[in-house]
Amino acid sequence: MEVSTIRLELTNQCNLFCKHCFKHNRATPEYLPLKTILEILKKAKPYGVREIGLTGGEPTLHPQFEDIISALSRIGYSLHLFTNGSNLHIFHKSIARFKNSIGDIRLSLDGAEETTHDNNRGRYSYRSVREAIKICRVEGLPFSFNTVVTQANKHELGKIAEFAVKVNCKSIFFSHLQLTKRAKRNKLELSIRECISADRKILELKEKYAGKINIYLCVGYYVKSPFYVCRIPLNSFSIDCRGNINYCILLANLDRRLNGQEIIGNAQKVDLTYARKKLINRFLTLNRRKFEEIIGKKISPSDHFPCRYCIRYFEN
Ligand code: SF4
Repeated sequence: MEVSTIRLELTNQCNLFCKHCFKHNRATPEYLPLKTILEILKKAKPYGVREIGLTGGEPTLHPQFEDIISALSRIGYSLHLFTNGSNLHIFHKSIARFKNSIGDIRLSLDGAEETTHDNNRGRYSYRSVREAIKICRVEGLPFSFNTVVTQANKHELGKIAEFAVKVNCKSIFFSHLQLTKRAKRNKLELSIRECISADRKILELKEKYAGKINIYLCVGYYVKSPFYVCRIPLNSFSIDCRGNINYCILLANLDRRLNGQEIIGNAQKVDLTYARKKLINRFLTLNRRKFEEIIGKKISPSDHFPCRYCIRYFEN
């Protein structure tokens, strides 16, 4: 079974403190060393990996960031960088040197208005994104927006799409909020009805701007059928900044206490084929339990959001 993507959480460090962020534990800085990355990639080669997603925290804070970009590009992977954009003015020349390997610079954008974005990410962060957009356009780097739909920006989705078209952005990836303590404290949570209405709006925008921009609704949205199965863990390896193979990168360093079963093993210590087998078993166990809960009528409305079901599963 082919694994097309590896998600590497380069660090738990970030230079922002967003109100919706689902990560925790940044007290002790952790960085995934380049040497470990190269060892993992060597082991993962037989699986047919083509794409590498670099995430964090903020991945550009990794002290070996430029070396990582250079090494992975030379091997021939398509690189997708998930960033808040604030350090692009420092690294754009090194990134542009490997332009042909850059599949996407995924910029986090939380609002079409400066105040909406800055209220979530901090003062001047919107200006950083605008600056990053300018840099991408000048350097000819493909870029997209990552937007988490919240109580604060649900009314700006249309304007975000309009703005994305105006600046020649490649795609927008809309996703739903992880229900962390921080997001709840900041009152960013949408009701189920509001989530469904936002999803409808996103699908309308997708149709409206077809041919101009790709609009995606990422896994995690409300699915009517409880039988939905998320296959992301089967198609990707998710490695956190300690080198642990996680069931899914969304569960790594989550701002909620999970039971540890979401960690399959450490990529440096375990054989990848063994880890793969363990992950597939976990995938089957999770989906079997979900199936049994559906039959036993133990599924709640919140379980129709696949990521929330995963979190509930790994919390118990
Ligand atoms: S948390 Fe679960 S449902 Fe969400 S993307 Fe990951 S594997 Fe899929």
